[in-house]
Amino acid sequence: MKYGLLLFDEPKRDTSRKIIHIDMDAFYASVEVRENPQLKNKPVIIARHPKETGGRGVVATANYEARKFGIHSAMSAQKAFELCPHGAFVKPNFELYRSTSQHMHEIFQRYTDTIQPLSLDEAYLDVTNNKINQKSATIIAERIRSDIKEELRLTCSAGVSYNKFLAKIASDFDKPDGITVIPPDKAHAFLMALPIEKFHGVGIKSVEKMHKLGIYNGQDLYHKDELDLVKQFGKMGHSLYRRVRGIDDSEVRMDREPKSIGKESTFTDNLISENDIIKALRVLAHKVMFNLKRKQKHGKIVVLKIRYENFETLTRRKSLPDYIKNEDELFQIALSIWEEENTQMGVRLLGITVTGLESVVYETIPLPLWRNSYSERIIKSDEDKT
Ligand SMILES: [Mg+2]
Repeated sequence: MKYGLLLFDEPKRDTSRKIIHIDMDAFYASVEVRENPQLKNKPVIIARHPKETGGRGVVATANYEARKFGIHSAMSAQKAFELCPHGAFVKPNFELYRSTSQHMHEIFQRYTDTIQPLSLDEAYLDVTNNKINQKSATIIAERIRSDIKEELRLTCSAGVSYNKFLAKIASDFDKPDGITVIPPDKAHAFLMALPIEKFHGVGIKSVEKMHKLGIYNGQDLYHKDELDLVKQFGKMGHSLYRRVRGIDDSEVRMDREPKSIGKESTFTDNLISENDIIKALRVLAHKVMFNLKRKQKHGKIVVLKIRYENFETLTRRKSLPDYIKNEDELFQIALSIWEEENTQMGVRLLGITVTGLESVVYETIPLPLWRNSYSERIIKSDEDKT
């Protein structure tokens, strides 16, 4: 009987939380227009001019005027130039975007400490309990928007609801410079009318598949069987089944920006042979690189920690001119540090850390494969298969 209950009970909806999603409008481009009023009302493309780079380079952001020409993030700068040759190409100034983002976070912190940044210009805020004892999340969202407008001279869009999924969809609903509130009693109607491509987490390939299955909007999705959805879309099918019912229990996670990412291993038997050391360093390099990619971070400084059998512990660092790109490179650097030590003692512990981390941005990688949204991972794995 218990099994039957598990299968047929409708999942429960928690509407007790108050979540805001804030998303700056064309962030990098808007910052540049603010700094240089001559750019106002012109198509602005944040990328180095393809003539300077020999056609390489990727668009980080384009403002709304440039988007009218079909230009979007992650498009090659060359393509953007073909679409809009008179557009203003502006070399990105990430230092400025970072400091602007920091100011934005200072504004958020006036209201709550429960903040989850998704990128420099986007964050979830849980304001269920907030610092100004304001019951209305809508009022808080409006105050944040006006603080940002006044202090940063930038616009943003806000979504307000009782979970992250709905808040994110809401912020996109009336962009730019808009606010959309989805209260619990309006969520169902909102979701039923929502086109399937607007469901956050459904990538382009999945949208095609949905269309083939006759799913064009929330209502179509709502009437699909959960097991069918899981069969067709795996884990995403399960989460969509819940989301279309207005359910998303994921928390606003306050992940502190990591300054370094590392991994160490203590060995039960001291490592003696060069081969064992190499093997251990390879494993560590793999794990560290995996975590770096997951957190969308990269760095130029590698720290190797070694503890010898006599418990003497040392750390050696190496700074590189460029970001470490892959696990083999990381391994080679760690190995070169190791080789400089060159002692004959057994090794109890090894650790590799990459430090001085920065967020991976479009400028440094040609494709958005490291972005953390589920949709893009789906797109990538779909493409891998074809
Ligand atoms: Mg944005």
